[in-house]
Amino acid sequence: MMDEHLHRTVLVTGGAGFIGSNFIHYFLNKNPYCNIINLDKLTYAGDPSNLKEIRDHEQYEFVHGDICDEQLIEEIFKNHNVSSVIHFAAESHVDNSIESPNNFIKTNIEGTFVLLEAARNYWTNSRSSNQINRFHHISTDEVYGSLGEEGYFSERSPYAPNSPYSASKAASDLLVRSYHETYGMDTIITNCSNNYGPKQHDEKLIPTIIRKAISNEPIPIYGDGSNIRDWIYVLDHCKALDLAFHKGKSGETYVIGGDNECTNLYLANTVCELLDELNPKEKGSYLDQISFVKDRPGHDFRYALDSSKIKNSLGWKPEENFKSGLAATVKWYLNKYRNA
Ligand code: NAD
Repeated sequence: MMDEHLHRTVLVTGGAGFIGSNFIHYFLNKNPYCNIINLDKLTYAGDPSNLKEIRDHEQYEFVHGDICDEQLIEEIFKNHNVSSVIHFAAESHVDNSIESPNNFIKTNIEGTFVLLEAARNYWTNSRSSNQINRFHHISTDEVYGSLGEEGYFSERSPYAPNSPYSASKAASDLLVRSYHETYGMDTIITNCSNNYGPKQHDEKLIPTIIRKAISNEPIPIYGDGSNIRDWIYVLDHCKALDLAFHKGKSGETYVIGGDNECTNLYLANTVCELLDELNPKEKGSYLDQISFVKDRPGHDFRYALDSSKIKNSLGWKPEENFKSGLAATVKWYLNKYRNA
């Protein structure tokens, strides 16, 4: 177990994105002894307004840059005496990885390698020997491939990624693993299921359903909508990450699931029903706008996780109720799109 008071400066990557920005808010509040350096390239997916509430926080600093920039990363480690890394930065949209995989290979694989090398060099040579140095890699359940109707993925499941996105995340997980095995780096890998909540990019499923619904456009659902995902509220994920970062065992992997499986069609129906309540149409229901479109190539049928390890060893469990979490999420996007 780590002594949390030895954590001083944590380099968070990709903190202007969906999960990273929710995490930084949670982490700063929960861990007043830590400083955060947030390194983000601000790609189309990064939004500085996700961090506006903490822009001037004394223990927070933003650096605009690319995780693939070796010189910049080296300088950040040196100038800030970085003690740990929590690595979110990634190209994260599966559809974009099918259209154009290049950036996924560059950022997700090469970028992770650059960070690992900088951490290894700095931590090997830095003189602060009483400091604990941890590299926490944030990953996805998609590395395990697809399930049929039955069964669950766990930390023991073999890797079988099916999209360029999941393959790039699998490669980065394995690089992190190798730095633990080869160099003894203190690493943690967490593989989480689909997150929902505020601050997600407009292109992702739940924001798309809401945006299309209120602009009176067809709501696109792949195939027949029967694909199953295990949804977790983003704050539950952030709590699990904070626990794994502080209390997880070095070199271990933890899967994090929401215990909340549903089909994409059930999800779209539920969001439409919430919109009917919160923002009724003059006539009819948003359900009438649901429209089935050609399936995504290589579309994984089902993801589901058995999170017993993190539950039993670290005492975590998902707390948010799906209906209330989704209602809060729908309200947040309604507010955003109405004021846009
Ligand atoms: P996101 O796309 O919302 O945010 C990614 C962030 O990384 C953005 O701010 C972007 O500007 C930044 N970024 C991209 N390339 C960069 C680069 N080269 N250098 C520096 N910054 C760069 O992603 P998210 O949904 O918040 O996901 C965060 C992490 O969690 C990813 O590693 C993803 O694989 C993983 N994950 C996501 C989910 C999910 O449901 N969203 C589930 C499991 C795991």
